[in-house]
Amino acid sequence: MTPVEDFRMIVDNNLITISTDLEGNILYASKAYCKISGYSLKELKLMHVNSLIHTDISINAVSSLWKILHAMRTWRGELKLPKKGGGSYWVDVKILPNFNDSQSLQGYTAIMHDITDRKRVEVLTKTVAEEALVIQQHQEIISDYVITSSTDVSGTITSVSRAFCQVSGYSEAELVGQNHRIIRHSDTPESFYKALWSVIANGQEWKGELKNRRKDGTAYWVELYIKPNKDKNGHIIGHSAVSQDITDKKKLEELTIKDELTGAYNRRFYNQVLDNEINRAKRNKLWIGFLMADADNFKKYNDSYGHQAGDAVLKSIAASLSDSFRRGGDYVFRLGGEEFAVLFTTESKAQLLTVAERARQAMVDLNIEHSGNAPYYRVTLSMGLMELDPELNYVSEEIYKYADEALYRAKQNGRNALEVVESDNDDIELF
Ligand code: GH3
Ligand code: MG
Ligand code: MG
Repeated sequence: MTPVEDFRMIVDNNLITISTDLEGNILYASKAYCKISGYSLKELKLMHVNSLIHTDISINAVSSLWKILHAMRTWRGELKLPKKGGGSYWVDVKILPNFNDSQSLQGYTAIMHDITDRKRVEVLTKTVAEEALVIQQHQEIISDYVITSSTDVSGTITSVSRAFCQVSGYSEAELVGQNHRIIRHSDTPESFYKALWSVIANGQEWKGELKNRRKDGTAYWVELYIKPNKDKNGHIIGHSAVSQDITDKKKLEELTIKDELTGAYNRRFYNQVLDNEINRAKRNKLWIGFLMADADNFKKYNDSYGHQAGDAVLKSIAASLSDSFRRGGDYVFRLGGEEFAVLFTTESKAQLLTVAERARQAMVDLNIEHSGNAPYYRVTLSMGLMELDPELNYVSEEIYKYADEALYRAKQNGRNALEVVESDNDDIELF
């Protein structure tokens, strides 16, 4: 083989090329073209070049290609071409006009590079990018409208949604890196969080209602769903939480169970929860205190200072009692007028009296002037405490009766006093 023949053979085998006449009828195709297209040279010689352009390429694109060629200019671009028997491939094409020795146009030659793999990568990249965009757009919406947060195993916040920032009043920078307790509300007892943690630390999901604290100190309620995040070996690496703001719902609920003037629970709620709460305390083996508290000489207070000032004092009494009985499961009720009741729990019997006595003293310490309440001359409370042993059963109507009797004794004993009904009193009706 001469060097020229050798060169031709190498070109023929490796260069994907076809030549046509002026009308586009195929005159020649290289071996490399035959190989990639699947057509034999014999078959190709009976074909028009337009039939070698994939139908995915628009007719407009094909006719603009021909316009350029008819103007005797070179066309350069990417084309999708069909394979014999189905399938396709992409090529980067340069189409040149062919001139004869007298410089007149006699046909066209196309030189191509297979860019199928590159195209595939391009399409994939585009799809991935588009999908990523959709996901990102979803995430944006979720971040705006869904209260979500993630923490590591120690409860340190690793991410929060914009909705989380919005509801809590903190910025993302103020939250990430902080412990989740940053939004704890003091009304939610430690025992509540302990119970929650024991569930999620076990790898289980937790769902429930929770009172949180905003940056400005106000409260908001969420219905919370927490799920553990695990690594591929099943080890817990943190938690994700999704919440729904239920503050409005809670406010409505509160309106129906709370006394408007003082914010203490109302009598309706007292009737509703008394039995349940006593049973719950019994299950937890906690001692239960049922305390009746009545403002001393309150009629005289109204007479001296006016009904409105009296109302303000009732608020102070409720606040003082709520302050003294602030554990989860403690309830302060306004049963009516200037009469309050408290249901509270302690670990031991002795603590019941201590806590109640402290509450009586706290009212004295507020030092609200009350000229008609000799010999104290300030607002005081008389109290009757009924101590309930978690091991015994009581008739709930009797609890009220006995506490009220103790209260009456406190009034008899000069007011600003605490009288106790012992649970082992033989007169108490048990069942
Ligand atoms: P004691 O020490 O024996 O309890 O005397 P007291 O004057 O407190 O008792 P009494 O039951 O005779 O009077 C209760 C008074 O409480 C009657 C009323 O003037 C006042 N009171 C009841 N409800 C309200 C209220 O909503 N607002 C105000 N300002 N006063 C109230
Ligand atoms: Mg009174
Ligand atoms: Mg009274």
